[in-house]
Amino acid sequence: MLGHTLPAAIYLRVSGKLQAGPDRFGLQSQEHECRAYAARLGLSVARVYVDQITGVSDDREQFQQLLRDAEAYSAVILGVQDRLARNVPLSYMMLEALQAVGLQVHSAGEGRLDLEDDTNALGFGIRAVIADQERRRITKRMYGGKLAKVRAGQPVAPIRAYGWKDGRPDPETAPRLRWIFEQMETQGANQVIYTLEAEGVPSPAGRPRWTKTTLLKIIGNPVYKGEYGFARKGERLTIPVEPLVTPEQWERVNAAVHARHRNQGRAGTQAHIYQLQGVARCGRCGSVITSTGVQQLKSGEKLRYYYCRGTLRIEGAHCEHRTYYRIEDVHAVIEDALTALAQDDRAVMQAVQAPAPTPRTQDGALARLDAEWDRWKGALRAGAITPEELATERRRIDATRARLLEVPAAAPALDVKAWQAALLEQRANLPLGQALRAAGITVLLDVGGAVTFKIRGSG
Ligand SMILES: [Zn+2]
Repeated sequence: MLGHTLPAAIYLRVSGKLQAGPDRFGLQSQEHECRAYAARLGLSVARVYVDQITGVSDDREQFQQLLRDAEAYSAVILGVQDRLARNVPLSYMMLEALQAVGLQVHSAGEGRLDLEDDTNALGFGIRAVIADQERRRITKRMYGGKLAKVRAGQPVAPIRAYGWKDGRPDPETAPRLRWIFEQMETQGANQVIYTLEAEGVPSPAGRPRWTKTTLLKIIGNPVYKGEYGFARKGERLTIPVEPLVTPEQWERVNAAVHARHRNQGRAGTQAHIYQLQGVARCGRCGSVITSTGVQQLKSGEKLRYYYCRGTLRIEGAHCEHRTYYRIEDVHAVIEDALTALAQDDRAVMQAVQAPAPTPRTQDGALARLDAEWDRWKGALRAGAITPEELATERRRIDATRARLLEVPAAAPALDVKAWQAALLEQRANLPLGQALRAAGITVLLDVGGAVTFKIRGSG
């Protein structure tokens, strides 16, 4: 029989899922069975090879290693056969591969596996087919269970959508979800993202950055109007859950989003009017450039203006740059300046900033300056400092703010020609604001309506 003096190897496959609990297919019990089998045949076991099957990945690294080490062994002992592969063709392939490198193959549960022996091969094939059927039945049973749960009016798993937690509306994120719905009815996704990020609201994945895709997915998810949908294998069921917004609001917001999407870039949409949201700063004080509401003239003409937020009382009215600029005028100046920039290599180099502070840390530093300013104002009200001292602090804070925004030009890591080509393409295909974003441009709007650009260096 086994005249060899060479030892045997054990090859085991474990799936993460079946490992949980006292499972007779678990790693330890498999190994134990194989060792007992080896002892019965008088084989000594030299090494145990284990492949882990996790979800979809099934790379069989250790199986390949076993094939490479084959010369050191006389035989290999497998756990029960369906551990080889729950898939008929794969089972055959693996068994063939083991025999091809000269290994005798044994299964702790079924004994010798030998494709050269007709009876044995037939038994192997039957067991492989049975294992395959078993796998299908388990899948079907799991799916049937889910469907039954939904029919009984219960979600398959706790709802995981943003605004939900542990199967119920989350007191922390549900109000944010409602806020997003409110905003998205009248504002473009980019503006809403800008506000969320400026307020430091983490994305559903817990990151500081939001994407348009995330927002649009949220808006389109019917779970927020109270409809939990479950669809698979040709069946579709909907069960009612607690709505976070009314169905009417949900429909309104989705209609608005779709309408905006259709009209993107056309005259009359918000995005067209308000291009510089989030990409422009005051050249004097570094505050955000914002826009007035629409002023409707009798002629039907609509007027809207850009201005520095630093001039607002609520911001401490610390900026002297009080000019209001018609947004069309500013856009025209920017368009011209971009045309010039696309042809002027030196201007591009001068506009490039070192990739120093990320906008986020910069925002944090700016917010701290604002908070400090509030404290000084409080100190004045409390009579702790004089107005002159307050003015001194204001100048110091303004200077610090200017330094934060004025990042020193280091060796710019920018391929100027490629950047210019990309800019031309972005201008041809995107509305102005999006083109500026895509090119990494910040617009500085200075006194008299002068426009300068800062370009984010790559890196
Ligand atoms: Zn300003």
